Amino acid sequence: MKSSRQKLEQLVRNRSTTTIERQQLNQLIADNIFAASPYVTKPNFERLHAADIQLLYELYDENYFGGLLGSTLNSNLLSFRLSKRMTRAGGKTTRWTDRSKPGAASYEIAVATTLLYQSFQEPERPVTVTGIECVSRLEGLMRVMEHELVHLAELLIWSGSSCSVSRFQHIARRVFGHTHHQHELLTPSDVADREYGIRTGSRVRFDIQGQSHEGIVKRITKRATVLVIDPRGQAYSDGHKYVKFYVPLRMLEAVE
Ligand SMILES: [Zn+2]
Repeated sequence: MKSSRQKLEQLVRNRSTTTIERQQLNQLIADNIFAASPYVTKPNFERLHAADIQLLYELYDENYFGGLLGSTLNSNLLSFRLSKRMTRAGGKTTRWTDRSKPGAASYEIAVATTLLYQSFQEPERPVTVTGIECVSRLEGLMRVMEHELVHLAELLIWSGSSCSVSRFQHIARRVFGHTHHQHELLTPSDVADREYGIRTGSRVRFDIQGQSHEGIVKRITKRATVLVIDPRGQAYSDGHKYVKFYVPLRMLEAVE
């Protein structure tokens, strides 16, 4: 007979979901949360309780892990915590062992709430979590939770876990479709800076209908707002006239 831990290992090594399957499972999980939680009643919820994290864990365990996280944990303790202090990471999973009780361990999943509340203030500013663009707090929270559950699964199977190594990344991609192993909540400005080296105030060049323009990045949302000096434009307080362009980030080239 295989133990729960062996079954979990087998599942984690083989489980693979399609985009459509994930969409269906995630919708099911979200619907269950809305139905059961007194706080999470809409995608951009304003309150959250540690019990919501526990509920998310149970729903993910049931739908993605066949209940094997719970049965592998067995009598080991798993607790959930909301953290206001974590400012960069979306979550954290910790394992503790006690020398006086060999074989026993306890686990905690903490979720950064300040980050979630600070993000998703404006609908046109989606946030990238684990490489996936999220448009609501619940989506952001679910991506963070998925990342933490890969950690939990690895900890239960192998006693150690790191999201900077390929084993973790392969599991996160196969099971949850994650393309990045960071679990920070990245704003469009963070992504622009990281992927394109472009910030507010950067000088950039772009082509529109065969014409090349050069200007200054004023704001970054899904697109960058670029101001280009033009006598037909609008007068700004610096004495110049500018025309405003909304340009997709990938079309911008940073000018030294
Ligand atoms: Zn991680």
